[in-house]
Order: sequence, then structure tokens, then C-alpha cells
Amino acid sequence: MSYQTINPLTDEVLKTYPNHDAAYVEQALVKGDVLYKQWRNDPVASRGPVLNKVADLMAAQSDALAKILTVEMGKRFVEAQGEVALCISIARYYAEHAADFLKPEHIKSSIGTAQVISRPTGILMMVEPWNFPYYQIMRVFAPNFMVGNPMLLKHASNCPMAAEAFEKIVIAAGVPEGAFANLYITYDQVNQIIADKRVQGVALTGSERAGQLVAAEAGKNMKQSSLELGGSDPFIVLDDANLSEIKKIISGARLFNAGQVCTSSKRFIVTEKNYEQMLAMLKEAFAAVKLGDPMLSTTTLAPLSSSKAKQNLAQQVRAAVENGATLAFGSLAQNKPAALFEPVILTNITKENPAFYQEFFGPVGQIYRVPDEAAAIRLANDSHYGLSGVVFGGSPEHATEVASQLETGSVFVNSFGGTLPELPFGGVKNSGYGRELGRFGIETFVNKETIVTK
Ligand code: NDP
Repeated sequence: MSYQTINPLTDEVLKTYPNHDAAYVEQALVKGDVLYKQWRNDPVASRGPVLNKVADLMAAQSDALAKILTVEMGKRFVEAQGEVALCISIARYYAEHAADFLKPEHIKSSIGTAQVISRPTGILMMVEPWNFPYYQIMRVFAPNFMVGNPMLLKHASNCPMAAEAFEKIVIAAGVPEGAFANLYITYDQVNQIIADKRVQGVALTGSERAGQLVAAEAGKNMKQSSLELGGSDPFIVLDDANLSEIKKIISGARLFNAGQVCTSSKRFIVTEKNYEQMLAMLKEAFAAVKLGDPMLSTTTLAPLSSSKAKQNLAQQVRAAVENGATLAFGSLAQNKPAALFEPVILTNITKENPAFYQEFFGPVGQIYRVPDEAAAIRLANDSHYGLSGVVFGGSPEHATEVASQLETGSVFVNSFGGTLPELPFGGVKNSGYGRELGRFGIETFVNKETIVTK
């Protein structure tokens, strides 16, 4: 496996990174274990200033960090700046709130007073994807740094430069030796790390297949795991929805980050009354995008992360059409250079079409016509995934009632919410388990140690 920076706009290989050997990994484990034993007894709040320093350095280097994302995985520069800003807010959020989230709790019991103390558990392995190269790390790094869990990172093989930049920032901020190590390693090495007795958990964000394999290793070795996998998120439009409000967000809901977002709206489910207008609005939004160089402020749709991702998505669209879907917008040819992918809208996707249950990780919108609200809810829940969703309706109360009937980790009513430091993030069904972010996300790899004193 080789770690390479390849510009998705041109397919040019910019840099190849050598893999780390077993001795390098062992060093990282030794240092992490020493630090864990020290951190176990340090107060949580003592780590806050360093995490704030990480945020300060990211802010000071925001544009340089953003440019790495643009060059390496094709993210629009403005969106890359937004990702850096989001990371900064996550770091600051946990630096400020972690001590409160993890403060000891007291329980009166019949045999004495119990204190429940939140302790770290040990070194964590994190396996992260390329779609938000810094944010995906920060979601695990910030809370677990405050908990006191040292971390080893295996990032996606197509974003080694972002992984390196993140590591440089945390070292420059003065995190203690052993707190974080970026490793360019193979899947076998990941498995060996999971099996190591000094390692107590693994957090993975990525595909279902990667999740299954890594969680199986964790299970085999009795290690805690959290999985944040894909989604085919529904966007339900009720009869009384305000279409002009939807018009403002419809493009971002599907096309932000070139559509490569696990929580983006992938299935627009529209009741009879609004279907034709929604389809027209979606086509208009997709026709308005300017596909091109992600560094340019005039570009509104970036390339995909790699030419391989483009080939896979184009093949998925072709298969959907061969199985009866209608290509309502876009082309099957996809003959723009490198990883540039023109947006596509699919309609008439029946349950027999494999596309019905697939996630389309790119600028492909599916739109479904349903007779009524009950059918919309049924269709939304007829998915292997359960990550997030959107419901638009004229009555916020009623739309919230509809939202509560969706089998997902989160739902946004009358907005397209995205992700915030304070909101728990994660899914059900094949979208994974466990939560990241918010006060819930910090608890995943914590030992709730109970001490009862008579
Ligand atoms: P992967 O799941 O293959 O990659 C995600 C991370 O997991 C990468 O670091 C990858 O490393 C690593 N990985 C994969 N398999 C293993 C393994 N057996 N052991 C250890 N680490 C492993 O996603 P892809 O990049 O291939 O994207 C495929 C699909 O996954 C997308 O089309 C989308 O559906 C979904 N996806 C979902 C994301 C989300 O945010 N939930 C993000 C990215 C993808 P390496 O790069 O070296 O293979």
C-alpha cells in the first residue's frame, strides 16, 4: 500500500510517502503507553491549554492547511477553510467543556458512597477517511486528548500530506511525547496494533467494508470500537413545505464537498403535490454549478477525491440506469478530465434496482415521488443506513413529529444542519455505532471507574 498525494484535478502525483516499519510503530506504542500511565492521574483540565494551542496554531496557519486539502483531495478552497475553522471550534469546545463532562459523579449506595471517576482507557487506534481529512481526525483527537487517551492514526492513503500537517501542528503546540502519532501503515499493521495489549480501542470512519473488517479485529481482541460509516440520507419534503426555503439550501445539501459527505442528502423524497417543482428546482441547482479548479473562488463544484472514485461512481450510475432508473439530468459519459464529475439526477429508482439501497458518494441526487407523508416515512426508513436526515414542512411541530419517526442518528427540521462541536454525531443500522462530538462523544473510550467507600 502506498501513501501518495495525487492532485485530483490533474492526476499528477505530487509526493509519495514511505511506509513506517514495525520499529517505528513499536516506538509509538511504547511512548503512548508511558504517557497513558502518567495521564491517568493528571486532571483533565490540565490538558486544556495545549488543546487551545492546537486551535491557535490551526488558526494561524489556516490558509496553508486549507490549501493542502484542496491540492490533495480536491476540496474547494473556501470549503477547506471552513473545515479548518470547524476543527478549531471542536478543539476549543473540548478544551473548555471536557473537565465538566468528565467530572466525578457521586452516587449514594446501600454499602457506602460511590464516586464514578472518568479515566482514560489506554492507547486508541484511529482509522480515518479522506473526505474531511482534518475534521475526521479532530473529532476523535480533541475529546480523547482531554480524556487522556494517546492516539495512533492511520489516515487514508490518498491524504498523507494532511495527516502529516495535523501531526506537525500538534507537535508544535507542545502535546506530550506519545500523545499522537501519524502512521503510514498497512491494514495488517492496523490489525497488529488493535491486537496489542497496550491498545484499548479503535475508532473508524469510512465504508461499511472497512468498518466490518476493523470491528471484527476489535471484537476478536475484545477491544472497544466505534464506527461512523456511510449514509443514504433522506430529505423529506411534506405537502406544506416552504419550497423557497428549500431552494436556498438544496444545492449545498447534496453538492457540498462534491457530494462526498456521509450526512449529505442523497434521497429526496417528495410528496405528490411538490414533486414536479422539487425536480425542477434540483435540476436548476445542478445546472447552475460551475465544475472546475477547486482553488478558484468562481468554482462551485470541485472534482471528486480521485479518478478511481470517479470511475467507481460513474459505473454505479451506469448500473442504476441499466437497471431501469431514468437519467433526469447529467450524462453517463463523464468525459471531463481527471476526477471532475458532472452532477447527475436519477429518478424512477425501483426497489429492485440495486441503486435503491446504495450510497452514491458524489454529486448524484436521487429523487422519489411518494403519495403521502406515511409513504415518505416508510421509504426513508427502507434503507440499510440510518445516519442523518432532513424534513421540511410548514408546521415545525408536525415536521418534528415526522422527524421522530425516522430511524437515524439525527434529523434536521427545516434546515440542513451539518455538524457542530456540541451535537452528537453517529448513526444506527449499517451507518455504524457509537457517537462522536458533543458530551456523548467524549464518553466512548472512558473507563467509568467506580470507587465505593464504606
Ligand atoms: P474506506 O472505508 O476504504 O477508507 C476509509 C479508511 O479506512 C481509510 O483510511 C482506509 O485506508 C481504511 N481502511 C480500509 N480498509 C481497511 C482495513 N481492512 N483495515 C484497516 N484500514 C482500512 O473508504 P474508501 O476511501 O474506499 O471509500 C469507499 C466508500 O466508503 C465511499 O464511496 C463511501 O461510500 C464510504 N466512505 C464513507 C465516509 C464517511 O464519512 N462515512 C468517508 C469515506 C468513504 P486506505 O485509504 O489505505 O485504503
